[in-house]
Order: sequence, then structure tokens, then C-alpha cells
Amino acid sequence: MKETCLPAPCVRGRFAPSPSGRMHLGNIWCALLAWLSVRSQKGSMILRIEDLDTDRCRPEYAEQLMDDLHWLGLDWDEGPDQKQTDAPYFQSECAELYEQALKKISHRAQIYPCYCSRADLHTASAPHLSDGTVLYSGRCRHLSQEQRKTLEQSGRRPSLRVAVPDCTIQFTDGLYGFKEQNLCCECGDFLLRRSDGVFAYQLAVVVDDGRMNVTQIVRGRDLLSSTPRQIWLQTLLGLSQPDYIHTPLLCAQDGRRLSKREHDLDMSALRKRYTPAQLTGRLGFLAGLVPSDAECTPNDLISLFSWDKIPRQDVIIDTSNW
Ligand code: GLU
Ligand code: ZN
Repeated sequence: MKETCLPAPCVRGRFAPSPSGRMHLGNIWCALLAWLSVRSQKGSMILRIEDLDTDRCRPEYAEQLMDDLHWLGLDWDEGPDQKQTDAPYFQSECAELYEQALKKISHRAQIYPCYCSRADLHTASAPHLSDGTVLYSGRCRHLSQEQRKTLEQSGRRPSLRVAVPDCTIQFTDGLYGFKEQNLCCECGDFLLRRSDGVFAYQLAVVVDDGRMNVTQIVRGRDLLSSTPRQIWLQTLLGLSQPDYIHTPLLCAQDGRRLSKREHDLDMSALRKRYTPAQLTGRLGFLAGLVPSDAECTPNDLISLFSWDKIPRQDVIIDTSNW
């Protein structure tokens, strides 16, 4: 009897950087792991520029980050400068899509204007969430039309929040295993659009990963706590759920995660001190893929890559030795 052989579903991963400054070692670390994961499964890679926040993002940074990724030896199959199957690849061009998604969500959940100022949100009694943000009290959820009108007339521009149900979202992260979060207690009604009209990352990322048919999301562990609300939005929008694999963060000796503050670890400084092969060798060694930090290319690491080898703990580096 002839065996029916279904083609393996193609893995689709993505880079989703925000062009709000020069990339640094932590960004490149995560990008390398995302790329290796996709390439080792013969999948395709998408580059999407997450430039929602037009105050902080600049086109030059987008150009620069593409150049930095290419310099290291990373590539992608679809993106602003590649095949354009799922254009646009800039979130700043997708307002209409996010608007449509808002409408769709509003049929299945309550979306309401929130007039709270920063000070209102950060009251002394506001409980803090694991990621340092505060749990929204739900203050504006039950305002009457009358009250809304008064607030509008006083010139307050509202943001838009979505009311979350008392439900627990569960998922299994590729590296960190089983996770669950109660949306009410551990997330709260969250923003879909800011008061200045900028759509929230949480909404945009779900819409874009959905329309680009992304099947695998590799990103820093700092976004682990955002995942349940993104999964919930996927269900409201009728989108399928990608696999999530969060990566450990690179941290300085004091345990702080590397950020744009460490200027000598941004790509401008790193490109002066390293060749791409030297930098890749050091990252491959940190990832546990090679026994030493000898020079190698991202391509060399593909056959050695396995998530089983990647550390679960954040990786502390001696910043003075980079
Ligand atoms: N744009 C986000 C960042 O640069 C990443 C979003 C994601 O990977 O989901 O932090
Ligand atoms: Zn409010």
C-alpha cells in the first residue's frame, strides 16, 4: 500500500526589531538564535520593522539594523528589501489593519476609552505586575456616557483598553516549559491604542504575526509575560497560535539585562572590535553550541543548533571583556 506523505508544515519565523536605536549585543544574540532555529528547520525568515512608535523610531535605524544583521551573516526571505509576499513590512504602514482588528475584537470583548493619566495609573495602591508595570484598576471600565462626555470636554484624549475576562491562559514555551497566567489578576485590562493614537505593540504584533502566517516566535524572555494576552487576542481574532520560544537574556555582572545603555556593546562599537566571525564565535560559545569561542559563521552553527543546548538561565557576561 502506498503511504500518504504529507509535506511537513513549513516553519516561518521572524525578526521583529524596533528601530529605536542601534542594535546591541542582546538584540544580536536573540536574532542569531531565532535565525538558527528557523534555518536548522529549513524554514523561512521574515523581517518586520516594528516602528509603531514614530516618536522613537527612525528610518535610518531600520536601514542600519538591516545592515548590522547582514554584516553578521544573517539573512531573511521576506522583508522590506526582499520578497514582499505579506507587505507591508513596516508597522507604521499598517494602521488600517490594526483598525480593522480593533473592530473585530470589539464584537467579542469590551473595548473602552480610558482617561487615566500616568499619575492615575501609578497610585500608591496600584499592584505591580511581574514585568514592573502596574495592574490597571479598571477605573474607566464602567464610566457612563455622561462621564465620558465630561472627560472628553475637559480635553482628555483617551487611550483604548480591552476588558479581560477572568480566565487563565496556558501555553508551553519551547524553552521555559509550561506557563499560565490569569488575565484578570496578572495582566489586567490592557492597552490596544495609546492616547496619542499609536496602536499598542500587543495588538500590532498579533495582527502581523497572524497575517504573515508566522508559526514560530523566538524572542527575549522579557516578553514571556506578554504571551498570554497575545494568545488571548489570537483567539478573539480567529488566528492560529504560533509556537513560542523565549530566549534567556544577556545580562551584565550585576544581573541587569544588557540594554542600549551599554554603548560599547552596541553594534557600532562591536563592529569596530570584531569581525563577524569573531562575534559569531563568541555568541555561539555563550549559547553552548561550540566548545570554544573560535571564529565561525552563523552558517557553520546551523547543523550544531538545538534548543536543548541553549541555557535556560540568563547569561551573565563580563562586559569589560567584550
Ligand atoms: N519589537 C519588539 C522588540 O524589539 C519585539 C517584539 C516581538 O518579538 O514580539 O522588543
Ligand atoms: Zn482609566
